[in-house]
Amino acid sequence: MAGAWRRCDSRIGYPFSVQRILNFIDGAFVPPVGGACLDNFEPATGAVYSHLPDGDARDVDAAVAAAERAFTGWSATPAHERSRMLLRIADLIEANLERFAKAESIDSGKPISLARGLDIPRAASNFRFFATAILHTRDEAHITDQRAINYTLRQPRGVAGLISPWNLPLYLFTWKVAPAIATGNTAVAKPSEVTPMTAFLLGELCNEAGLPRGVLNIVHGLGPKVGAAIVAHPRISTISFTGGTATGKTIAAAAGPMFKKLSLELGGKNPTIIFADADMSQAIPGAVRAAFSNQGQICLCGSRILVERSALDRFVNEFVKRTKHLKQGDPLEDATEQGAVTSKPHFDKVTSYIEIAKREGGKVLCGGSPPASLPKRCRDGWFIEPTVITGLDANCRTNQEEIFGPVVTILPFDSEAAGIAMANSTPYGLAASIWTSNLDRAHRVAAQVQSGVIWINCWLLRDLRTPFGGMKQSGVGREGGDEALRFFTEPKNICIATT
Ligand code: NDP
Repeated sequence: MAGAWRRCDSRIGYPFSVQRILNFIDGAFVPPVGGACLDNFEPATGAVYSHLPDGDARDVDAAVAAAERAFTGWSATPAHERSRMLLRIADLIEANLERFAKAESIDSGKPISLARGLDIPRAASNFRFFATAILHTRDEAHITDQRAINYTLRQPRGVAGLISPWNLPLYLFTWKVAPAIATGNTAVAKPSEVTPMTAFLLGELCNEAGLPRGVLNIVHGLGPKVGAAIVAHPRISTISFTGGTATGKTIAAAAGPMFKKLSLELGGKNPTIIFADADMSQAIPGAVRAAFSNQGQICLCGSRILVERSALDRFVNEFVKRTKHLKQGDPLEDATEQGAVTSKPHFDKVTSYIEIAKREGGKVLCGGSPPASLPKRCRDGWFIEPTVITGLDANCRTNQEEIFGPVVTILPFDSEAAGIAMANSTPYGLAASIWTSNLDRAHRVAAQVQSGVIWINCWLLRDLRTPFGGMKQSGVGREGGDEALRFFTEPKNICIATT
């Protein structure tokens, strides 16, 4: 809720001295031009614990002006110097691992073990990966008979607009920031207003690393205000967005007529496909991890589990048993495996889908409601027990629409062709995992499943060099490796006559 700037209640144990988040523009922390703020909630308690700017187009204008001023110097900075700067940021993230992990856990409700083991290390890896990638690029040249030499320059495009979601806050924010600035662009970036804290803390580290002011500018606030102003800004030529498919449509409609270069990483309804010949000692824990990591709030989570009918009973029994053993509790406890979902609106959305599933005839095998017992501190938090539902048709809403929470369905299939058809039966095409011990089948099925990312006998095993992104309504374009380096640069071909 927006309001005038006011002091937050002082709370003990938070890892930051500043509870008032500020915009980061031109290397300085500044309040929003309009002076209004938004409440920032801790999902585990449901309480407001900090405030962030309710920014608007005026803040975006100031950020773009700073980014434009910085562009001349930064785009001319030799790659090895840009690289060194990004490596310093990576080192500083690692040096602050515990502080950032705690901040991410408080801000998003995710277990601290996940923030410590995945989110924050990955943010450091994003900087390190692109810092070194720019030292190993190859330029293209083409000799045209005896008549000419063509060579292709890849130049930074200017000011990039970067918009990221709340589920993997720093991880996805830096997945855009690192390639954008590594390639010599400057950036105006907006984290989700639901999870702004680690992006705010990153600004401090950029200054500590010596990143020239204005290279990265961070504007906080609501999507329809700050996000829309970034997308519509006439001097931002590149937009990289990760978020929901509906928001992606709005952004594409605004950016298309302005001929902006656009990357959209959107929603998913990912299948986990289990064949009867799979090694169940790997497949079942793998499917549980794919289903419920980060409370099911990873775009790559496998929320539809398709199981070959002959293995169904065994799979369901063991899957439900393991799900019931997941330890749910205070995200700040080291042993917690399931934390809170990230916001009250999202809690309401996920629980409404559980009701839809029941109305559609689904049988809830476990979960389906908030946990009965939670530590006292967490009694008003937004927790949902990991939920497993069977008995639904593949075409019902529960199996077609993205829920993005700790809710999975299990569906049987009778043949390889039927399993593939079921996997492809949604409008989405982001990720899939296939579990089988038959390598021929694995390749055959992988080639036919309509997803941009496919794992065989594993899940979320990432190599940052590989193309990352979705098909169908899961997105347009790819991130990662060379794809990101190409996206953030403009190819310019130069032809020199040789005769
Ligand atoms: P949203 O689409 O609601 O928001 C994503 C970002 O866009 C936020 O920063 C949001 O700001 C901003 N935004 C909202 N409206 C606009 C607008 N009109 N113009 C510009 N920016 C806007 O997604 P969520 O944050 O809810 O994230 C969850 C979604 O992200 C899921 O659908 C998930 O599948 C998808 N996702 C996809 C991934 C992929 O790689 N394909 C990876 C991770 C998530 P604010 O928060 O203030 O509303």
